[in-house]
Amino acid sequence: MDEEEKEVSRVYNFSAGPAVLPEEVLKEAAEEMLDYRGTGMSVMEMSHRSKAYEAIIREAEADLRDLMNIPDNYRVLFLQGGASQQFAMIPMNLMKNKVADYIVTGQWAKKAYQEACIYGKANKIASSEDQTFSYIPDCSDLPVSEDADYVYICENNTIYGTKFKTLPNTKGKTLVADVSSCFLSEPVDVTRYGVIYGGVQKNIGPAGVVIVIIREDLITEDVLPGTPTMLKYKTHADNGSMYNTPPAYGIYICGKVFKWIKKQGGLEAMKALNEKKAAILYDFLDGSRLFKGTVRKEDRSLMNVPFVTGDEELDAKFVKEARAAGFENLKGHRTVGGMRASIYNAMPIEGVEKLVEFMKKFEAENME
Ligand SMILES: *Cc1c(COP(=O)(O)O)cnc(C)c1O
Repeated sequence: MDEEEKEVSRVYNFSAGPAVLPEEVLKEAAEEMLDYRGTGMSVMEMSHRSKAYEAIIREAEADLRDLMNIPDNYRVLFLQGGASQQFAMIPMNLMKNKVADYIVTGQWAKKAYQEACIYGKANKIASSEDQTFSYIPDCSDLPVSEDADYVYICENNTIYGTKFKTLPNTKGKTLVADVSSCFLSEPVDVTRYGVIYGGVQKNIGPAGVVIVIIREDLITEDVLPGTPTMLKYKTHADNGSMYNTPPAYGIYICGKVFKWIKKQGGLEAMKALNEKKAAILYDFLDGSRLFKGTVRKEDRSLMNVPFVTGDEELDAKFVKEARAAGFENLKGHRTVGGMRASIYNAMPIEGVEKLVEFMKKFEAENME
């Protein structure tokens, strides 16, 4: 055995997802790995029907309710299949009239729209595809369909780095939102939505869990014919997310992250910190002679910050040198190129400050 204790060396991880998690949470999970609080086993090895696990999932739900101020007439479901499975579950469960309106502001919204087309009449009532999804369209007076079962948005566009700063006027229709990449990044008024959902691997936990917050009246047996048992919200709501084996370990980590956020001061505090971090990066981009942001200013995301130099070779050089300096996963999405820094809740402010320092140095070295 090596007598020397191994130095743990962590990078600044700007991945869009799976993404950085709070170090404190990882350490706690490591400490509990072999023996979870005197049970003599890991949470991974535990029956999901055990008392110990029952407490983990109930506490996770209670903490999330607390953080988001979720009213009693909303259910919280811990599911699997990723955000992508919700693209089908939403129409299967909600399309009573077989009509739904979609606002297409990026790849994820587009995929959700395309999936809904399988099940009914999905209308694209607004889009920002004309300018490579670099902005959020004006949604104050859209042609919402009279018989629409819901209006769908992707609230934060992970790939393009845009965010809805005001929710669309749905003209009384139920709002459904994919919040995968802005979950718990700032306070939300849950009552404005029928369904809020997201994969947790962006801002909350490890891949494998999707959280659905859904208003009770939307959970019914009246779903599209042929909807599998596992894809009915009712199945999971009636069984406290335990109809089958839930993604038990992932939920346990999510629960720890909820507690971590509470300790930071909750969602107001998260928002203040996220605004501070994003401002450091955007202010630099706005003044830079080499780098520029790609998104219309008023629509900028606090979580995902895409930028370019305007020269593909220089972009590649930047990503490579950044990586060597300890800044990982800055390459833009494969469909858009350039760079993207995802600065989720768990990215420390020093990570952003040091990235900007590095960008300044790179700019000085690469501008005549
Ligand atoms: C990552 C992402 C998805 C896809 O999530 P999966 O869990 O991989 O299915 C969907 N929507 C948004 C906004 C995302 O960021």
